[in-house]
Amino acid sequence: MNVIGHFIGGKHVEGTSGRYADIFNPATGEIQAKVSLASQSELEAAVANAAAAQPAWAATNPQRRARVMMRFVELLHRDMDKLAEALSREHGKTLPDAKGDVIRGLEVAEFCIGAPQMLKGEFTEGAGPGIDMYSMRQPLGVVAGITPFNFPAMIPMWKFCPAIASGNSFILKPSERDPSVPMMLAELMIEAGLPAGVLNVVNGDKEAVDGILDHPEIQAVGFVGSTPIAQYVYSRATANGKRAQCFGGAKNHMIIMPDADMDQAVDALVGAGYGAAGERCMAISVAVPVGEETANALIEKLAPRVESLKIGPYTAGNDVDFGPLVTGQALARVKGLVDQGVKEGAKLVVDGRNFSMQGYENGFFMGGCLFDNVTKDMSIYKEEIFGPVLSVVRAKNYDEALDLPMSHEYGNGTAIFTRDGDTARDFASRINIGMVGINVPIPVPLAYHTFGGWKRSGFGDLNQHGPDGFRFYTRTKTVTSRWPSGVKEGAEFSIPTMR
Ligand code: NAD
Repeated sequence: MNVIGHFIGGKHVEGTSGRYADIFNPATGEIQAKVSLASQSELEAAVANAAAAQPAWAATNPQRRARVMMRFVELLHRDMDKLAEALSREHGKTLPDAKGDVIRGLEVAEFCIGAPQMLKGEFTEGAGPGIDMYSMRQPLGVVAGITPFNFPAMIPMWKFCPAIASGNSFILKPSERDPSVPMMLAELMIEAGLPAGVLNVVNGDKEAVDGILDHPEIQAVGFVGSTPIAQYVYSRATANGKRAQCFGGAKNHMIIMPDADMDQAVDALVGAGYGAAGERCMAISVAVPVGEETANALIEKLAPRVESLKIGPYTAGNDVDFGPLVTGQALARVKGLVDQGVKEGAKLVVDGRNFSMQGYENGFFMGGCLFDNVTKDMSIYKEEIFGPVLSVVRAKNYDEALDLPMSHEYGNGTAIFTRDGDTARDFASRINIGMVGINVPIPVPLAYHTFGGWKRSGFGDLNQHGPDGFRFYTRTKTVTSRWPSGVKEGAEFSIPTMR
């Protein structure tokens, strides 16, 4: 059996803790590999390597650091098929979707080629008599990223690309469910010219995470995962004096106004609700049609589309809409929530619970489910399901529709489908959610903008990638300088002001 260890000091090292987690092939249900779960001493080794490598890396000029990112982008293109295959084999998503996962990370690497521009400071000549003032952005030192299973290529790159381009060294703790691609990314960074020790991958579970949160050498922690863990990581990291940005779960609503193009809205809902089996933090999980007529038309068009979704293993090629869930445990949890929804009185229009994939009966597959008449008090509305389940909540009018995402605890993404500019503008302005789509169901910002949710979808103040990625992984130093030939005024006992 293939056993995945860690990547420390530029090479693969075996785990020594004696603890392992199973890695499944979600399509077959088989255990295909094991991953070592790091102990504190293994984390120490990674941090020691990272700390030793960081000063020289920070002293490497930013253009040279950017060239490593350039070469990394080339290597990602070269190995795209290999990366996508490894990703699908452990995660279960389709190959085109796995390539998308790699490419959305690659785009952040492309953005980080602009590090010299992003890191340029500010300068004021003559801020006072003979005084110049300038600020510079400096790396923090050793920083870390803790990432979820659902984007094992993209999210690690969201974290380590800006951090490393800024001159930090990095400890990545990827999800223990699909660690192969993060390990491959670390190898590629070395091949791209990154000095050993600047990027380390420590595989593990809570023990490795707690080790990161408590380690005095680690200056900042970027986290993405479920909300309870995001909040825990944020609290413990900040209590230990670290910078933290922690992104959590979601319940993304899409409002469909009576004037929306219904075919477009249905296409959007099918893709955004069921793509990647709903295992996306930006998936649409609640559709809110406004008015009875809109709701009836929506259900009428949506139900046959959900019934005819094509489900299969990634090996079936491009003609598959989505694959299995990541683990048997995830499958049982999602089915349990659907059972609960039925019990609580929602109308299950399409029931995918009994779907079985011929030839893959032990795989973690489930069919698409569509609920109508869902209400705010039901657990399928309150909780993030993270499966191929879409809930329709009917709203009488725009204000009632707007109130739903506004009063939900999560605030990651949302969308409105309408032809009316006033309504769209009002929605974008008033909604208390971090990422908004107007006739776009999954408004994931591009690499040069920033990604982040509000309310209980995000803890901390700066977003991921874009300019915020550089801000998070650097700190500002401001220098006020005067040379001896400047004006000499003698001792000054009052605070200097610009009189
Ligand atoms: P998860 O919270 O189970 O795991 C995330 C990370 O935390 C993993 O590295 C895991 O090893 C670690 N972890 C798990 N339990 C822990 C514990 N008790 N103590 C310390 N560390 C722990 O999340 P997941 O199931 O891997 O990912 C799915 C979740 O991530 C969903 O809620 C999804 O919405 C969210 N997500 C959010 C975003 C975003 O940007 N907001 C993006 C992608 C995914």
